[in-house]
Amino acid sequence: MSERSFIVSIAVGVPGVGKSTVLSITKKLLQEKSLYAEVVNYGDFIFEELKDSGLISSRDDLRRLPLKIQFKHQSNAAKRIIDYATEVFEEKKQGVLFIDTHLWIKTRSGLWPGLPLHVVQILRPDLLILIEADPMDIINRIRRDQSRYREDYADPRFIEELQEMNRREALVIATLSGAAIKIVLNKEGRAEDAARDIVDAVIALIR
Ligand code: ATP
Ligand code: MG
Repeated sequence: MSERSFIVSIAVGVPGVGKSTVLSITKKLLQEKSLYAEVVNYGDFIFEELKDSGLISSRDDLRRLPLKIQFKHQSNAAKRIIDYATEVFEEKKQGVLFIDTHLWIKTRSGLWPGLPLHVVQILRPDLLILIEADPMDIINRIRRDQSRYREDYADPRFIEELQEMNRREALVIATLSGAAIKIVLNKEGRAEDAARDIVDAVIALIR
């Protein structure tokens, strides 16, 4: 574990699996236990850098940008996330930073890693939370959630393959960084159960 005053947990899973939903419940549950948690969305930090460029108009446009543009902003965003968390946790003795992101991004040039080595070296995660769900549940969540565009992922065979690739990539990242891997199942209608599993894993890491 690192010398930072906060634990770095990276939560990953395919688009629509429920990462943001589960993490917001996790934050609330941890706060009830007097443990401060901050949740940041990696894509929001990249979007923040690019929103005035005129290249994109929404978060879901990011993955349609040429890879060389995405690449440049990937490590900048990682540094800004750690700087932001260092500031947020400065006053606190202990805390948990959750970074909400993806292990594989579907781009026009093929699948692209969300956590390549240069990013892992900046983030230095303590815990990797792999959020999974039944592919058909994910498809239904994508269809129901009209606030986002995720149709490019909405194929059950592709989701299954991607979840398998995520497990393999999680092994690579854990080996490179020394982070533990926690696999969490986000069952339909049971996001709070998934959040409780994360709370247990985080508390076991701290105490
Ligand atoms: P993205 O990576 O694209 O940001 P995400 O993994 O953060 O996706 P969410 O936005 O949290 O996914 O969830 C997608 C949709 O699924 C939302 O409408 C959310 O309310 C719903 N959802 C999340 N978890 C569950 C669950 N356990 N049961 C039913 N619906 C869920
Ligand atoms: Mg999300």
